[in-house]
Amino acid sequence: MKATIAATLLLLFAASRPGSAQTLNVVTTTEDLASIAREVGGDKIKVSALARGYQDPHFVEAKPSFVLTLNKARLLIVVGRDLESSWLPALITQSRNAKIQPGGPGYLDPSTSARILEIPTGTVTRAMGDVHALGNPHYWLDPENGRRIAKAIKDRLSEIDAANAAYYAQREADFGRRLGEAQQRWKAQMAPYKGLKVVTYHRSWTNFAEAFGLDVVNYIEPKPGIPPTPQHTLNLINAMTAQKVKIILVEPYFDTKTPNAVASKTGAKVLVLTPSVGGVPQASDYFKLFDTNIAKLIDAIKTAGAR
Ligand SMILES: [Zn+2]
Repeated sequence: MKATIAATLLLLFAASRPGSAQTLNVVTTTEDLASIAREVGGDKIKVSALARGYQDPHFVEAKPSFVLTLNKARLLIVVGRDLESSWLPALITQSRNAKIQPGGPGYLDPSTSARILEIPTGTVTRAMGDVHALGNPHYWLDPENGRRIAKAIKDRLSEIDAANAAYYAQREADFGRRLGEAQQRWKAQMAPYKGLKVVTYHRSWTNFAEAFGLDVVNYIEPKPGIPPTPQHTLNLINAMTAQKVKIILVEPYFDTKTPNAVASKTGAKVLVLTPSVGGVPQASDYFKLFDTNIAKLIDAIKTAGAR
């Protein structure tokens, strides 16, 4: 069976034609990176994302088609910080694409120039199941990091495709200008809720909370990637009651059973928010991701009487 799949893939590789000379094939691991890449690359690049926005980016089910997509990539953009470490490395190896191997010219990890929070200072706890052993990988949820990601993409596209460097620079500047306008709007919308205490399921919202003044006081997960335990849930309910926390943010790919149980004990409201572009249909690009989340969050805060 395995041999058959390998043979089929070889045939597919042989049949696949390189993209047109004008369009550069870019593959991103997430739809967030795909959206920012499209902003910078415009019609000079063709972008495909591997994971869908409604999937947990830590644990994506690898499809055979991913290998073919990666085989044809001129540039692979990853979130990094081990976000994709459970599913991507084997696919990169199987792609037989020398360009996109880590460290190669077609491999870009923009986390190296982003603001990364929660970098562990002591012993790395990955052995205990913590999936954030290299710092918080959900950094795209601060628009300032969106800006840094765009710059990293612009720099790399300009190296790979120097003939269009001015085009990429102009697009990146335009994205930065529009992002700046949007950031002013988002900050003004969120200003009345500065310091609002929230609980989140996973540590997805650390950068978002820093950017928009929320105070994440606790998590449904005892550690990133570790499912809720009865003892942790009990402590959480006590802490939320003491601190009068009224909002629980839950990513679309987690079971709402524990959040709902916690909500019923504490009078808090459970709000499903997507950390990624494509997580819900309205969050169709990087700008609309923030538009959608901020509108839903403010609605929930008002409904819960949290402010
Ligand atoms: Zn995570």
